[in-house]
Amino acid sequence: MIEILGLHKSFGSTEVLKGIDLAVRSGEVLALLGPSGSGKSTLLRCINHLERIDRGVIEVDGKLIGHRLRGQGPDLQELSEGQIAKDRRSLGMVFQSFNLFNHMTAVENIVEAPVGVLKRKPKEAKARAATLLERVGLGDKGNLYPSQLSGGQKQRVAIARALAMDPKVMLFDEPTSALDPELVGDVLNVMRELAATGMTMVVVTHEIGFAREVCDTVAFMDQGQILEHGAPKDVLINPKNARTADFLSKVL
Ligand code: ATP
Ligand code: MG
Repeated sequence: MIEILGLHKSFGSTEVLKGIDLAVRSGEVLALLGPSGSGKSTLLRCINHLERIDRGVIEVDGKLIGHRLRGQGPDLQELSEGQIAKDRRSLGMVFQSFNLFNHMTAVENIVEAPVGVLKRKPKEAKARAATLLERVGLGDKGNLYPSQLSGGQKQRVAIARALAMDPKVMLFDEPTSALDPELVGDVLNVMRELAATGMTMVVVTHEIGFAREVCDTVAFMDQGQILEHGAPKDVLINPKNARTADFLSKVL
């Protein structure tokens, strides 16, 4: 579903992604672990067209992603902004900081893009929003504003909002890191249920328990490279790389 080959990305003179190769199968749930500054968010942002890549290929569902270069020289291709906007619809993203629109209720947040971008009928979009809110355990909270919701509830609205666009892939960037510990479980349970439906997911997380129990594969990233990638029981329990072992000893 996601195919990344030789991805390089620099900010100024700092190379942040140094040749990433990574494949995520349809229905796979991948946990992306790594220390602060290793490039995890940048990688997600490249997959989601939020960053322009310097070199390499990213494909989602067989389609090249975003501002990208296929090979070099004559193969160089550049997508129009319109095409990029269209391709982005197949990717749902959930951020650490929720990023809800504060002046809109939960339902309004969820229907905004389906109505504004996909031109769905408001009535149908609202019905779908109600179903999605039920699914994330917030069936009775649709008319509340973000300021009236807890962090965990806001994050579940953010997940419902992403799902309202019927994405093929869901990208999560530390979705529980900003939450009080007692609110983390509800969000992880929603993600666990989503994984069980066969959604393809890439989850940047420090929740090792979630990685072990829910994820099919785990990738460990350090200094812009993927150092280890495999089954949770291998990467988390018997890491081959010393830096993976060191990282795990600090977060476990
Ligand atoms: P964290 O766990 O703290 O979220 P991360 O693994 O997500 O870290 P990134 O946010 O991808 O790391 O950042 C990787 C590196 O790229 C860091 O050194 C960061 O300072 C740098 N970086 C990220 N975004 C930009 C930007 N827009 N401009 C310049 N440098 C950036
Ligand atoms: Mg990050």
